[in-house]
Formats: sequence, C-alpha cells, structure tokens
Amino acid sequence: MNSESEHIPMDIVASRDRLVEHGEMLFRSPREPLIKFTGLTEADELVNDISSYPHAFVLACIMDQQVKAEKAWIIPYRISQRLNGFSMQTLAQLSPNDVNNLMTQPEPLHRFSDRMAGFFYSAIQRINSQYTQDASQIWSGRPSSAEVVYRFLEFDGVGQKVGTMAANILVREFKILLADYYSIDISVDRHIRRVFTRLGLCAAKSTEAQIIYRARALYPEFPGMMDFPCWEIGNKWCKPQSPQCGACYMLDLCPTAAVSCYHHNVTGVDAPGGPFPSRVRT
Ligand code: SF4
Repeated sequence: MNSESEHIPMDIVASRDRLVEHGEMLFRSPREPLIKFTGLTEADELVNDISSYPHAFVLACIMDQQVKAEKAWIIPYRISQRLNGFSMQTLAQLSPNDVNNLMTQPEPLHRFSDRMAGFFYSAIQRINSQYTQDASQIWSGRPSSAEVVYRFLEFDGVGQKVGTMAANILVREFKILLADYYSIDISVDRHIRRVFTRLGLCAAKSTEAQIIYRARALYPEFPGMMDFPCWEIGNKWCKPQSPQCGACYMLDLCPTAAVSCYHHNVTGVDAPGGPFPSRVRT
C-alpha cells in the first residue's frame, strides 16, 4: 500500500491493509447528520455545531482526559445550561472563579473539576486572544496536520493524545480537509493497545511511544487512519476476556484468534508472557 511495505512482514502488511481499508471507508463516508459523543442529543448538537460554536468542540476535547468520553463531551452543554448560553462573548467575561464555580457547582462535572476548570478558563483566554473568539481558525484554510496538532498542543492541559484525537475527529467525523495527514497519530488507549498486541502489530508490554511509532511505520501517510478501526474492534469484539473472534473482521489474519480457537479461550492474552506467542519480528 506504500513504499515502506517491503520492509514489513507480509502478514503484518495484510493486517495493516485491512485496518486501513476500514479506516478509509469511514474517512471517505459522508458526514453523519449528528455525530454522537454523549448520548444526549442537545449536548451532541452543541459540540457538532462547529460553525457557530467551534469553541465547544475544542473545550470538549480538552475535557476528554481521565474520565469516560461521554462525561467529558457533555461538559460544554452542562456549562451552557448553568450559564444560559455558550457564546464566546459570554465565556470571555468569566473570571477564573466563575469557571471554577460552573465546573464544580452544584455538582462537579469532571473527576478533576478544579484542574479542568483551570484548563477551561485558560482555553477561553487563548481562543479569545489568539483566534479572535473564533476557534475554527485552528483548522480552517487547510493547514498541515502538524500545524493543527501543534495548535491544540498550545492549549494548557493538552498532550499528544488529546491533540491527535482532536485532529483525527476533525478529519474523520467532521470531514475537515487538511493539507496532509502525516502528523495525525494513533491515540493509544486500552483498546488500541490490546488490539495492536493481539494482532501482532506490537509486542506485549509495548510502551505508548512504541505503539505510536509502530503505527507511523505501518502507515506513514496517516498513522491515525488505523485509530478508529482498532478502537472499534477493541470496543465491540476484542474484549479483555472472551473476545468474540467469530464476529471480528480480522479473524483470518489474527494470530491470537488462531491460538485462542485451539485453546478454546483467550484468558491471559493481555498478560505479558501469557500463552500466546507474539507475531512481531523484533
Ligand atoms: S480476531 Fe479475536 S483476538 Fe483477533 S483482533 Fe479480532 S477479536 Fe481480537
């Protein structure tokens, strides 16, 4: 699929190509009328409206750490209810104390509400001053993927994972066009780690950096293209215990499935040094 493939074992290339194929299907598909983030239509409508409320999307991305995604992405809507609106003009008038009260009263909106209130306030200041209250300037005008990720990384509290997640959602779900996709990495979470390991794309106990660079080596044009397929496989079928390999579209390529069929269970797949050999050639 790319010029690097000749250096990668054929069985891994086959897995890579199928993951990319599924990623591309999603990438090329039309935008959903309402992208579901929270399970609450009104909250999803706010973060979907990147024309009128692009800052809601940015703020939700920044909140998406150390809690379930649904809980993070609903925060802009909860604050809009408490504030009776969510315009940048209104947000820009809030003091740090106001934001802290909105984030914590009458009940905390985040597991780390005090810290997140600081990030939220700081993000409002940056959008206000750097982007003249229009957060869509972060991604408008077809910038490079590196530029978009960098702009997210400039926000307090945003690391590589949130920065690449934000860029990935913009191009995959909102169909925002960028000049290239080289710098949109895979966002390593427990699903990505488990699926990469079981598919033999990385060794057991690989570090986050190893998985990120593995994805870059496998598909340098757009490493994050494999992000959603792996996440979906992990979320739907490749459970920590008793994965449903029969329903998984990687079944015929997966070394773990082959072994688990023989053993009739997959207990221990996640455990380093467990019963399943790694397919990775190191
Ligand atoms: S075939 Fe089974 S073990 Fe392999 S990725 Fe799919 S669910 Fe996981």
